[in-house]
Amino acid sequence: MDFGLALGAMNWTNILEGIISGLVSILCSTAIVWFVTRLIPAKRKKSGADDVPKEPYFSPFALSLFATSFFGILSGLSLVFYPESSYFAGFVSLAMFLGIITFLIYDNQCPNCYRIFKKKLTRKETINDEEREYRYRDCTVYLYTDGSEKDRVYSGEEKVRTETWRTWKEFYECQACGHRWDKIFERNLDADNRPKPNIIRTKVDPPIKV
Ligand SMILES: [Zn+2]
Repeated sequence: MDFGLALGAMNWTNILEGIISGLVSILCSTAIVWFVTRLIPAKRKKSGADDVPKEPYFSPFALSLFATSFFGILSGLSLVFYPESSYFAGFVSLAMFLGIITFLIYDNQCPNCYRIFKKKLTRKETINDEEREYRYRDCTVYLYTDGSEKDRVYSGEEKVRTETWRTWKEFYECQACGHRWDKIFERNLDADNRPKPNIIRTKVDPPIKV
């Protein structure tokens, strides 16, 4: 974007809208961080952790969450004030990028000292393998010329197959403070070989959106 052009287009309304958007975003993001930093220890306690310290306001996770919320809310406001401009696309991309960073930080931070990327996997332990039924019917999907879905037709009797679900526990240790913790995971080992629908590409163009 041409900076000179942006300055030229500035007037009191723009500046006021900018200030209001900024303040609203700061307030909402603060509320989100306040809520999440209380929610996470409550969730940990519920899942059986014995000693649950309070998530600090200025942990890397909280700061990253604040930045993500800030640009997420700003993108919504830019859509209200400047629907024709490219602000929305820019802010949304930034919020999504920061969202991924926030998740990585959350997943890699020590629940005791809150330092990040000090988590070390020390051991894995399978808890159990459970057989579960998966019910399905044969399915044919018809696609438009652009590859989007046109129709979905189910046929035949309902079939049943057995899938194995594994539950396992991972043990971690913090390389900074020595804190140890664990987490339980569950995954369908047969998810990849589920029967896939039969796909037929038609010569029909997708309907034109108004
Ligand atoms: Zn630690």
